Amino acid sequence: MMNLRKRAIRKGFTLIELMIVIAIIGVLAGIAVPNYVQARKKAQLKACFANQKTIAGAVEMYNLDKGTSERDLAKIADDLVKGGYIQSKVDDPGAGKGSFAHYTLTNDNFGITCSEHGPIGNNGAQPASSGGQTADSGSASGSSAS
Ligand SMILES: [Zn+2]
Repeated sequence: MMNLRKRAIRKGFTLIELMIVIAIIGVLAGIAVPNYVQARKKAQLKACFANQKTIAGAVEMYNLDKGTSERDLAKIADDLVKGGYIQSKVDDPGAGKGSFAHYTLTNDNFGITCSEHGPIGNNGAQPASSGGQTADSGSASGSSAS
């Protein structure tokens, strides 16, 4: 009788149960966060390349229409928008507003590059802004030892 009553009253989780749950959440977060950061960077890179292709094509059309060979993107950016060659001065993905200036025309392969992400196809050599967040999951081994 006494034993039954005691079991009925006891509710909630023990400290070790809570610690195990927190450790599992920590491990999952430690796996998910770096993957998320990586995927985000990759998506921004691809979006930047897509922007570069669009801008390069717009400049090509502009030069064909006008019979020019203009290579100064900053100079013709407003004309590109006004002439309907591009809808707007797109921002460089991940670089915030007004980052259209990241794009500059070059004379090699696609004829355009980005100061942040490099030219189209530049998958490996990103600027040294990676490796920021390292969500360490050291709490997992700590709780299992106790
Ligand atoms: Zn870019």
